[in-house]
Amino acid sequence: MIYFDNAATTIIDSKVLEAMLPFLKSNYGNASSIYSLAQESRREIEIARKKIAEYLNCESREIFFTSGGTESDNWATKSAAWCNKSKGKHIITSCIEHHAILHSCRSLEKQGFRVSYIGVDRFGIINLDELEKAICEETILISIMFANNEIGTIQPIEEIGKIARSKNIIFHTDAVQAIGNIYIDVNKFNIDMLSMSAHKFHGPKGIGALYINKNVKIKSFMDGGAQELNLRAGTENTAAIVGMGKAIEIAKSELNNKTDFLINMRNKLIEKILKNINYVRLNGHSVQRLVNNVNFSFEFIEGESLLLLLDSKGFCVSSGSACTSGSLDPSHVLLSLGLSHELAHGSLRITLSKYNKESEIDLFIQELPDIIKKLREMSPLYEDFINGKIKSEIF
Ligand SMILES: *Cc1c(COP(=O)(O)O)cnc(C)c1O
Repeated sequence: MIYFDNAATTIIDSKVLEAMLPFLKSNYGNASSIYSLAQESRREIEIARKKIAEYLNCESREIFFTSGGTESDNWATKSAAWCNKSKGKHIITSCIEHHAILHSCRSLEKQGFRVSYIGVDRFGIINLDELEKAICEETILISIMFANNEIGTIQPIEEIGKIARSKNIIFHTDAVQAIGNIYIDVNKFNIDMLSMSAHKFHGPKGIGALYINKNVKIKSFMDGGAQELNLRAGTENTAAIVGMGKAIEIAKSELNNKTDFLINMRNKLIEKILKNINYVRLNGHSVQRLVNNVNFSFEFIEGESLLLLLDSKGFCVSSGSACTSGSLDPSHVLLSLGLSHELAHGSLRITLSKYNKESEIDLFIQELPDIIKKLREMSPLYEDFINGKIKSEIF
């Protein structure tokens, strides 16, 4: 099996698992209790919090543990909206956000908020002019993702942070895909809130965090106990928090070395696939792109069939086609780039991690052309193309 779906989730680092195990066995104390057993949990939770704060260059008291990226995104957007509605009811986001943001915004629209969904250029970079023009007296929140989970595009976060700060608007970023791949300094970038999730950087699932700048006042999202400075009720998931701390510590220490290794493999994939296969398009930006992300559209191909054939060869990959997106429509991100439904259906996402090897890339490059050829031979669209009934969209 060759795992190329690291944007969906990652394997847990064995050092992370090691660090967690005592808290699933003997160190089971509730961090809110006062005896020594519990205080051990409290201490380790605070160490983990500090490691996360160090990655982001913020204070420990600005880090709040949640159940993951989805909860952090919901909390940030909904709470910022509710707590600032006396100032205005307008929110700005982009049309390529993760569903955790997009669906939170849809739900806010039903509650009377107005949301501007900023478009992207054909490489998936958000249009800054459009963003600036959308800002009005009523704007209370800008939420733009740091890096996209499908096409890997990295947004001009520093510029957006400057714009938001100059207008005194809260700036949230979904950095779930960026953490572990990019250094982030929340102060330098003027980020007020930031979402992250441990399972995207070799930590456990079901644990994440929201960074909230100490000057931003937002309310709790859940009613209950006084945990997390009264802002996130519920007994702390000690083992997962410890795992997340370990995972971010490792991610930070490995970042420099890992970057070149991943860029080399990513660029090899891009170069060879564009060279060896016809009627293929690289989705996303060639440079402003996550080091581990590759996304292609193959004409005359159905993403699902491609995934199934690749699975039969042992490759785990993903697609933005309709069946895999869980709806009738293909990926909103690919459509936002201006891709036709056909091209969006024929997409393939490969996302790498430090555990991949160059030999796996070579094997993939070797197997893919035959699979594409086989699928096109069965494709009625390809037959129409060969017979001159339809044109290629790419050449
Ligand atoms: C995975 C992901 C999420 C959701 O995180 P979970 O921890 O799985 O809830 C949110 N945003 C982005 C960009 C993601 O890639």
